[in-house]
Amino acid sequence: MAIVLDGKLLSQSTEKNLSKRVRLIRERTKIVPTLAAILVGSDPASATYVRMKGNACARIGIDSLKIELSENTSTSQLIEEISKLNKNENVHGILLQHPVPKQINERKCFDSISLEKDVDGVTCLGFGNMSMGAAAYGSCTAIGIMRLLKHYKIDISGKHAVVVGRSPILGKPMSMMLLNENATVTVCHSKTKDLADHVRQAEILVGAVGLPRFIKSDWIKQNSVVIDAGYHPEKCGDIDLHNIESKCFAFTPVPGGVGPMTINTLLLQTVEACERSVEK
Ligand code: NAP
Repeated sequence: MAIVLDGKLLSQSTEKNLSKRVRLIRERTKIVPTLAAILVGSDPASATYVRMKGNACARIGIDSLKIELSENTSTSQLIEEISKLNKNENVHGILLQHPVPKQINERKCFDSISLEKDVDGVTCLGFGNMSMGAAAYGSCTAIGIMRLLKHYKIDISGKHAVVVGRSPILGKPMSMMLLNENATVTVCHSKTKDLADHVRQAEILVGAVGLPRFIKSDWIKQNSVVIDAGYHPEKCGDIDLHNIESKCFAFTPVPGGVGPMTINTLLLQTVEACERSVEK
């Protein structure tokens, strides 16, 4: 029977541990770890994500600061808000909810977040550092996946990993993290030819394509490790997980696999950022 890589379980047990760490910081220093979340515009899905992140912070005793900006905010106005948060000693982590309205240069705004507060792992500098094996907070979903693989003692070294998707927030950092753990990595995208043939070679498969059940179950290699980062309104991921248990070595369920690990990693990295600022 395949191993279920249970992100819900791992994130719940990590929350217990994080609550203790937060309590310790508060008792020793009177400092409350604080995450500032910036929401630009009125996209309902983004508002829901920010609310969920705020609720998760509250569960472990982190303060969350919500900065809501209007739909017509400009790049320079957003950068100004970010630099205020960079300077604010009471803020330990900054999250700019993606996507921002079209008139904003999102990359420029992400890159204005200071490295030590980039707990969502969105800056180019953080990505570069992480890729080179230097200290940086990684993209939360990709780190969440790596934490799941480590927790379940999945061998990565020497394995052929295939990542379907190359987005800056997921596919690219995922590929670098797997490479840093000595996987041989193939990165597929919308211009990839013969996608099914690549997927068939995957000993570790990561579906990060953003299309419901796009990766077919009959493409999946026997005894592989199957990671599905997708989550769609029809309660499925990017991979058709039909009959998956009889076929693979381990897999992430949808829901309850990768999803809970993303927010959990944001909490973890915010607590770490606060601990580091206290140590300074
Ligand atoms: P994205 O920015 O839309 O990127 C999708 C990637 O898939 C792109 O690199 C794109 O290639 C590639 N792609 C699109 N069509 C393809 C095709 N026909 N064949 C092969 N590749 C194709 O999406 P994302 O933000 O990375 O998210 C990916 C998935 O992860 C989504 O399902 C999303 O919901 C999920 N996600 C989950 C969490 C979580 O917390 N659980 C967080 C983030 C994302 P090009 O680069 O060539 O366009």
